[in-house]
Amino acid sequence: MSKIIIILLQKGNNKMYCDYLTGLFNMQMFYITLKNVLKKSIFTSNNIALICIDIDDFKEFNYAMGYIWGDKILMEFSKSLKSIIPKNSTIFRIEGDKFIILFEELTNINSINELCDEILLNYKDPICINDKQIHITASIGISIFPDDSMDIDNLIRYCEIAMNYTKSSKKGSYNYYKHFMSDTNYREFIIKQELLGSIEREELSLVYQPQFDARYNRLIGVEALLRWNNRKLGPVSPNEFIPIAEQTGYILEIGNWLINRICKNISCWNKKSYDLSTIYINVSPIEIISDTFKSNLLYTCHKYNINPFQIGIEITEKVLMKIDKPKINELKELINIGISIAIDDFGAEYSSLNYLMTLPFNIIKIDKSFLNNINCEKNKALILCIMNLSSILKCKVIVEGVETKEQVDILTNLGCNNMQGFYFKKPISQFELEKVFKNENPKKNVHII
Ligand code: C2E
Ligand code: CA
Ligand code: CA
Repeated sequence: MSKIIIILLQKGNNKMYCDYLTGLFNMQMFYITLKNVLKKSIFTSNNIALICIDIDDFKEFNYAMGYIWGDKILMEFSKSLKSIIPKNSTIFRIEGDKFIILFEELTNINSINELCDEILLNYKDPICINDKQIHITASIGISIFPDDSMDIDNLIRYCEIAMNYTKSSKKGSYNYYKHFMSDTNYREFIIKQELLGSIEREELSLVYQPQFDARYNRLIGVEALLRWNNRKLGPVSPNEFIPIAEQTGYILEIGNWLINRICKNISCWNKKSYDLSTIYINVSPIEIISDTFKSNLLYTCHKYNINPFQIGIEITEKVLMKIDKPKINELKELINIGISIAIDDFGAEYSSLNYLMTLPFNIIKIDKSFLNNINCEKNKALILCIMNLSSILKCKVIVEGVETKEQVDILTNLGCNNMQGFYFKKPISQFELEKVFKNENPKKNVHII
């Protein structure tokens, strides 16, 4: 144990520097110790290793077994780590299920390999908690002072990056930090690779965000939003993976999967006689310009016997502005059949009044950025302007991203009643959505199959 730790503990600071659950030293102690050890080693020319260890899929244990069991796993895990680490090292619990071993006076890199092998070997067999056998694995990342960096924050960051690299390449193993791991391209590379099998592995799913007429709290539509929970990366935001799927063209397969899934769900809800109004799908520009978009959408509606009025598509204004005449005509045909087209994120970028006259759409979705400063008179005037314009163009307006009662009140005063946002409902599961349908339609809620 480092001298500084002994001094701090002698001063009676145990509570401040120890983690209440495991009794290990905490993050605060880690910083103080590391600073001192680094200072010392500049004079002694000793190498130091930071070994970051994180339990794999710990969140799932917590969800599946409850937090009390999660705590028991953490206690058992730290006990076994403590029993393994060599004399010239100290272990810290940094946060949650993340631990760092500070390995001082490192003379031979092999001693790190031996320690990591021993840690991993330790969890080959299940651990036993209250007679329950639990299989856990851990992923490890290592950074070395001064080879990787002489900066304290970088050293910490690098061992965490190496640990995350291990998680995304091969859980239950260890890796030394390499500079390419910091490269954001690396995550992009993994996303590209992992997306490819995401449909087959059933990693994609949908959540739904209802839209309401705020005056009566009446359901007026539902937006379907894509979710991806990857085996290696965990949940990845659509904001991150959709642009990559667009780059690779895989968005076409995702789009087909999504249209099929939505139509199948609608058909199932129709059989239960739910009044679901319209379900809106986000459509990427790559899908819109593909030759098969319209035919595929219509074919799938037909296959599941869906009334086109039950389907809407959301396209961003940026995309709508760029499409050519034949595509415009195709979209007009969809509107004529009954499929709604919404301009998504309206006002987020360059809105040109010009294009509103020529493009095919029947809904404007005002972007949530308008709500940031909704108290300001200029913003109110802009929303009024859009409302007036929409009545001339005979289209519906929905405001998205509504989060507060104040926003609801101001919007309704401006005559804008259609809203979507966390104030009403966050995106919800299919199961939760069915509850919303049932509340909307208590009498119709009879199965007709
Ligand atoms: P979007 O189409 O503008 O979707 C609305 C986003 O705002 C959703 O994020 C939603 O969860 C979030 N949101 C809703 N209400 C509120 C609120 O009150 N406050 C705040 N701060 N946010 C709110 P999400 O689900 O992460 O989707 C992000 C974007 O990813 C979407 O933006 C859309 O562009 C894209 N996306 C999502 N699903 C799909 C899909 O199935 N296909 C395609 N092509 N793109 C999708
Ligand atoms: Ca949208
Ligand atoms: Ca939007």
